[in-house]
Amino acid sequence: PVVTRFAPSPTGFLHIGGARTALFNWLYARGRGGKFLLRIEDTDRARSTPEATEAILKGLNWLGLDHDGEIVSQFENAPRHAEVARDLLAQGKAYKCFATQEEITAFREAARAEGKSTLYRSPWRDAAPATHPDAAYAIRIKAPLDGETVIQDRVQGDVTIRNDQLDDMILLRSDGTPVYMLAVVVDDHDMGVTHVIRGDDHLNNAARQMMIYTAMGWDVPVWAHIPLIHGSDGKKLSKRHGALGAEEYQKMGYPAAGMRNYLARLGWSHGDDEFFTDAQAKEWFDLDGIRKSPAQFDLKKLENICGQHIAVADDAALRQECEAYLVAAGQTALTSAQSDGLERAMYCLKERAKTLPELLEKAHFVFSSRPVEPDEKAAKNLDPVSRGILKELTPHLQNASWDRETLEEVMNGFAAEKDTKFGKLAGPLRAALAGRAVTPSVFDMMLVLGRDETLARLTDAAD
Ligand code: GLU
Repeated sequence: PVVTRFAPSPTGFLHIGGARTALFNWLYARGRGGKFLLRIEDTDRARSTPEATEAILKGLNWLGLDHDGEIVSQFENAPRHAEVARDLLAQGKAYKCFATQEEITAFREAARAEGKSTLYRSPWRDAAPATHPDAAYAIRIKAPLDGETVIQDRVQGDVTIRNDQLDDMILLRSDGTPVYMLAVVVDDHDMGVTHVIRGDDHLNNAARQMMIYTAMGWDVPVWAHIPLIHGSDGKKLSKRHGALGAEEYQKMGYPAAGMRNYLARLGWSHGDDEFFTDAQAKEWFDLDGIRKSPAQFDLKKLENICGQHIAVADDAALRQECEAYLVAAGQTALTSAQSDGLERAMYCLKERAKTLPELLEKAHFVFSSRPVEPDEKAAKNLDPVSRGILKELTPHLQNASWDRETLEEVMNGFAAEKDTKFGKLAGPLRAALAGRAVTPSVFDMMLVLGRDETLARLTDAAD
């Protein structure tokens, strides 16, 4: 069975790159009946904060990337990591190194002066077992001295590292704390992780992690190191490119389904498919479709895909998402009447809206209460002549049956009577019904508002 994991370091918000890594792991597991685990890599006590963990969890929750099982804290596993280091020591695959920091620094300086490799070679590797048990020691792994290490990466292909480039890395520091590299390997092994999909900034670590797998005789997971995300200018994504955090996209009102679709396409492809559902993404996602070159973030594409997701979304679900958006963006919540109106209007709002705030903006007419205050542009459409026309129109609507066909008939008939086109009536009607010059179609607004509210608003405006 497939087991993937997302292993963020809680040192900041969930950035877009992290969100995509999480998504890839989630899709891979969900499409294969596997498990998607979450591990917080909080070993760096100085840089890890509970606020960052909170922000990451919120981001994952917004994106709907649910994990299986308990959240693992890497820090809490430190005793287990130390145990593995001692196990390797007992097996003779690691050794106690009594070198002091001064000795190591002196070694490096001498090597640099002589123009030799500064890779530290501890004299304790081949020394007899330590005779001074009181002295502090680190546990170092015995790195292979010759030959090569090959990382079989599903994205990068075979990556070969000469073993003379690898040092006897420390597993357990002299203060008894395990190093990060050991923690990752032990946790991945203990959690039963079968596939590791992560940023290619971790590719170099893979060679060193491989030493630990080999020494312990553990199965190496399938590795897929994915290229980083670049900005539209081709440079590594940074603050200059605008929003970096998943949360910022939530606050801008991109729907989560659109965001998932867009992020899935960021560095992975399935033929020419741009728009797809979660079910399709889960079915289609594979490691072969991941591209080797960096993906470029493109806001226009994101908006386009989000628009398509809004257009096909279920009305009730979309209303819920709008309400969650208002909370996330720190805006006033809707009353229950507004919420009901929003759902009834949804069918005519969701076309051509690329974000949730755009959709809510179109819903302005539903949220307004009488008397509707026209804005500056709308007020211009309510000159005395127009108000007179609205007054004359009202009786025609009094007994009309309230469906689109009849309303169109009545309006067109009335326009013909006035020797004008319906288009000429639209401005005053929009102003009366919504207080705006740009609104959803007049008929949709009338149908959503219903007869009583429509007539009341027309009467208000005509007076
Ligand atoms: N904690 C690492 C990071 O946030 C990920 C390590 C891994 O996936 O192996 O970049």
